[in-house]
Amino acid sequence: MSEIELVSESKLPTKYGKFSIYAFKEHNKEHIAIAKGEFKNKKVTVRIHSKCLTGDTFRSLRCDCGEQLEKSLIFIGKHGGVLVYLDQEGRGIGLSNKIKAYALQDKGMDTIEANECLGFDGDVRDYGAAVEILSALKISSIVLMTNNPKKMDAMSRGGISVERMPLKVKPNEFNEGYIETKRLKSGHLA
Ligand SMILES: [Zn+2]
Repeated sequence: MSEIELVSESKLPTKYGKFSIYAFKEHNKEHIAIAKGEFKNKKVTVRIHSKCLTGDTFRSLRCDCGEQLEKSLIFIGKHGGVLVYLDQEGRGIGLSNKIKAYALQDKGMDTIEANECLGFDGDVRDYGAAVEILSALKISSIVLMTNNPKKMDAMSRGGISVERMPLKVKPNEFNEGYIETKRLKSGHLA
């Protein structure tokens, strides 16, 4: 049974183009989908992005979230598609825990070691919500902008037909280690 409910939608003009925005509720979480162009019952370009306040809003260079978000919005703004923005900050551990993990990383741990040191799995994100949101928007076939094989698997398991489009960003001096850890420890593709 679906735990996710579409509660509201409106137009959203942005610097990347004119989008529609959809707000979904899942218990105390609020997920968003931003869409451009016709997408119902079509093969749709999709980005599934997990919320990252420091990267998305403050443009932190510790991760590549801000840059991936911007690239996705530019692409979708030009070619159409859907960005699903999941309310799961800090790989699912929440904002203050993420900052705690940053402090441990400042002492030399990598992303996964730091999360594990705080008592979490290396990555506790869950993409079930994205499957439900896509289904609610009548999307069953997607080209997913991602380097993360877990997202591909989650879509297939959820019954969504999925092809991959790589989403490359250039590492900077602060996130080189973070990107390398994703590649080595989480099987991320370039
Ligand atoms: Zn981030």
